[in-house]
Amino acid sequence: MKKIVVLLSLMLIYSCKKEVKEKIETVTITSNELKETVAFLASDALQGRDTGSQGIEEAATYIENQFKTLGVKPYFKTYKDPFKVDSLNAYNVVGVIKGNDQELQKEYIIIGAHYDHIGISKKVVANDSIANGANDNAAGTSSVIAIAKYFAAKKNNKRSLLFVLFSAEEKGLLGSMHLAKKLKAQNVNLYTMVNLEMIGVPFIDRDYTAFITGYEKSNMAEKLNNYLDANVIGFSEIAKKYNLFTHSDNYPFYKEFNLPCHTISSCDLSNYDYYHHVDDEADKLDYNHMANLINTILPGIEKMSNTPTKEIILNP
Ligand SMILES: [Zn+2]
Repeated sequence: MKKIVVLLSLMLIYSCKKEVKEKIETVTITSNELKETVAFLASDALQGRDTGSQGIEEAATYIENQFKTLGVKPYFKTYKDPFKVDSLNAYNVVGVIKGNDQELQKEYIIIGAHYDHIGISKKVVANDSIANGANDNAAGTSSVIAIAKYFAAKKNNKRSLLFVLFSAEEKGLLGSMHLAKKLKAQNVNLYTMVNLEMIGVPFIDRDYTAFITGYEKSNMAEKLNNYLDANVIGFSEIAKKYNLFTHSDNYPFYKEFNLPCHTISSCDLSNYDYYHHVDDEADKLDYNHMANLINTILPGIEKMSNTPTKEIILNP
């Protein structure tokens, strides 16, 4: 009898410990997993992921398989949401993690990045003509997959999260335009969008880690820094000068929905020599910087998906 009591109490202690362990489980993004994704997407085998090419087809399937493995569900009937670019077939890859709150799950946050690039470059350097697009934007793509992994494991988002990898960004934001119009027509209750572009190299000589395009258009940077209790997201004069706000996939969503939709980046062309260059290769990126940036902003996105009201708003 005594033995049974001891055994039972041991089992009880063990199960309590297990429960505590599960509750405080943290999910950390590693530089290695980001590097692995970028190395695949930016490999010569994918030929620079031009829209309509065999290479981008393989990239789309890779992303789809990652979502499947993580347990991220397709938002539409299939992960690949097709559209046409002239006669070419193109796909955005769209996954969803439903919010866990009856009411707030009706509101959506888009976490996005484009996974296409410019394919074969006319500017041949040392016999290399493949524009690999590692920083632009295998980096952002790997980050969206990593963020999806985080929420698929934690399942603590009250609002629903859409994870979108856009095609045909390099053709003029065509993938994001297609999806923005489609979601608008379906009356989707969008809260906000965070797009990730060229986060593969560190921003230099700043007291913040990354910048946001369209900084002054909303309170997103301020709110994120607030949620993170740190100065992580700042301003870039170059982004402002070249109006980068209108040059990435956040812009069609801003236009359709008139909501805070921004791109976070750590490269405004002042700190990387290989923009649209055949040397924008996987070995040029700083994966510790990437992992650090994502792990730093993740709790901000988490908070964004759980606040009782929509705190991020356009500035008047
Ligand atoms: Zn880009």
